[in-house]
Amino acid sequence: MSARIIDGKSLAAALRTALRTEVERLAALGRRPGLAVILVGDDAASRVYVRNKVRACEETGLRWELHEFPASVDDETLLARLAALDRDDRVHGVLVQLPLPQHIDAQRVLSAVSAAKDVDGFHVHSLGALLAGRPGFVPCTPAGIMHMLERERVPLAGRRAVVVGRSNIVGKPMALLLLQTDATVTICHSKSGDLAAITREADVLVAAVGRPRLITAEMVKPGACVIDVGTNRLADGKLCGDVDFDRVKEVAGWITPVPGGVGPMTIAMLISNTVRAALQSDRSA
Ligand code: NDP
Repeated sequence: MSARIIDGKSLAAALRTALRTEVERLAALGRRPGLAVILVGDDAASRVYVRNKVRACEETGLRWELHEFPASVDDETLLARLAALDRDDRVHGVLVQLPLPQHIDAQRVLSAVSAAKDVDGFHVHSLGALLAGRPGFVPCTPAGIMHMLERERVPLAGRRAVVVGRSNIVGKPMALLLLQTDATVTICHSKSGDLAAITREADVLVAAVGRPRLITAEMVKPGACVIDVGTNRLADGKLCGDVDFDRVKEVAGWITPVPGGVGPMTIAMLISNTVRAALQSDRSA
């Protein structure tokens, strides 16, 4: 039997519709949520991601501003702009589009976004709060995946979850969120050895690697929920995930497509975090 396809596009659209109502309520109080985006250099993929984020802001009624810098910019210039944005009451969320050029100290720049405006959840305080189970902004991709799993009522407590990839922005926070639901979690990476032996144990398998079709049907337990974070651009220009979708969908119980799965949910969670930041900035709202 073919897997149930988790439609991230329509789940994200539903979330944006609900958020729009909240945005208009805040706007009527003179508190329209605002997002500032920092874009450094001329990376084509980054431009597409930023364009999609801006479009989502417009659809949900958020105020947005784009701060562009040449690839040659130095740390101090970025830090000065971040400090100014931190003081600006009309800006509730600040995100720095990654990747940054090699000469920039990315963690230093990310940590210059104040925790109250860290809607991407990449600040070490946000990541520490997640680790400690304290309130804070959760990185958007794992947060969006948790939203999908809840909506699809995928059983998690007591189940085996395997996350392939250990980045600070996807793999590690994903594993922590799954752990919070009482799943038994394994994290895999490039040195994990026999990957298939581990992934075959997974009731929930999250692939966040960046290798086209790394996860094949033989690596998936029948009936498992397979979440594909990978966004790989093939030579023909098409987008492709980390999962061999056509074959894995014949084995899995649930599966997310690429495009139309995790990507739209990530952006919806960014909007959600920005609305939350605006709410938290003014308790009277
Ligand atoms: P990173 O490159 O930071 O991390 C990739 C991880 O995959 C690393 O931990 C690496 O291991 C691991 N890895 C690499 N090769 C293998 C392998 N053969 N077997 C097992 N593990 C391996 O990537 P990100 O986490 O930033 O992103 C992952 C993917 O998700 C990318 O395609 C990215 O474009 C996409 N993405 C999509 C988003 C969306 O909204 N849809 C949002 C963010 C990312 P090691 O640590 O040992 O090097």
